[in-house]
Amino acid sequence: MTKISLGIIGGGQLGSLLCAAAKNININTVVISDDIDAPAKHFANHFIYSKYDNEENLKKFTSKVDKITYEFENIPYNVLSKLDKVKKVNPHPEVNKIVQHRYSEKKFLIKNNIRTTKFEKIINEDDIRKNKDLLPGILKTCTLGYDGKGQYKLKNLDDLDNHRVSFDREFILEKLVNLEKEISVVITRFSKDKYEIYEPIENLHEEQILKHSTIPAKIELSHFKKSQEWAKLISEKLQYVGTLCVEFFIDKEQNLYVNEIAPRVHNSGHLTINTYNISQFENHIRAVCGLEKIKLEKICNAKMINIIGDEINIYRNKKYSEKEFFFDYSKKQIKPKRKMGHLTVIENK
Ligand code: ADP
Ligand code: MG
Repeated sequence: MTKISLGIIGGGQLGSLLCAAAKNININTVVISDDIDAPAKHFANHFIYSKYDNEENLKKFTSKVDKITYEFENIPYNVLSKLDKVKKVNPHPEVNKIVQHRYSEKKFLIKNNIRTTKFEKIINEDDIRKNKDLLPGILKTCTLGYDGKGQYKLKNLDDLDNHRVSFDREFILEKLVNLEKEISVVITRFSKDKYEIYEPIENLHEEQILKHSTIPAKIELSHFKKSQEWAKLISEKLQYVGTLCVEFFIDKEQNLYVNEIAPRVHNSGHLTINTYNISQFENHIRAVCGLEKIKLEKICNAKMINIIGDEINIYRNKKYSEKEFFFDYSKKQIKPKRKMGHLTVIENK
């Protein structure tokens, strides 16, 4: 049988880990990225360096693949839908349209009776004054934010002067949640009512960047069930194919909220590589390539530590035990706040 060839748009660490998982199940990968130093070029079978709107290179890309997926949600909708006409793109482009814009994402959650944080759309400073009951809050760009980028914490209206926000983009203002905990649920949907779901993962953020992820999450059973139920509902309503992650907040009063939806494999799910029979990456590939769904089995508990900025130098020179799994994303440049690698430490093996 000829090998399936999977096209992946984006070449960061998620792309790299997808390529590594594909290799394990004998699937070819073709990565297209606008970064000449994209880490995934070391993991893919074929690498195309190109802007995402270069027609000629996109043609070359589609000619080499059977199916297409993507590792980040900020690819323009029109690029994805054009590609989808040539080779099947999964998750389908309409998903991205909803999820890549924070306002439409929140509206989608509300429409489906899923609790989310209080918010309003903001286009200028005046809108913030009108919605000052949402303060203290966080002003977030509607598009293109990640790892806390494009976010401004506002304690009060005076804080606006400190941040000098330029209102050249759309924002939402979100009320600050008095956080007890953050959790996430990773789910892979294959088709209608056909999915595999991982247990909730407990996440700790520092300066709005994920620092640690742990299973089991120390949460009430009701939150365990509700978070999985909402993740299923979201993937079903989006008619999603592939792996998706839902980020949740739990406040001090034990209310559960959906923070955001990541239409892709997720950093908190990296520990699934070492704790389940099938990782979030392999499951994503299985779903988008139309392969068989295999029942998930948990092997052990674990903690995943993100390695950020120049911390990587220490980890590169360390010796590891058989319970420690170090992943170096092989990024060319070390930058502050940049995710450079991760370490998963397993228990109970
Ligand atoms: P990103 O796209 O950068 O992941 P998020 O909206 O998930 O953006 O915010 C990053 C982190 O900032 C969250 O995981 C959480 O720790 C903190 N945060 C964001 N919004 C709120 C909020 N409304 N209340 C409390 N903390 C928040
Ligand atoms: Mg987030």
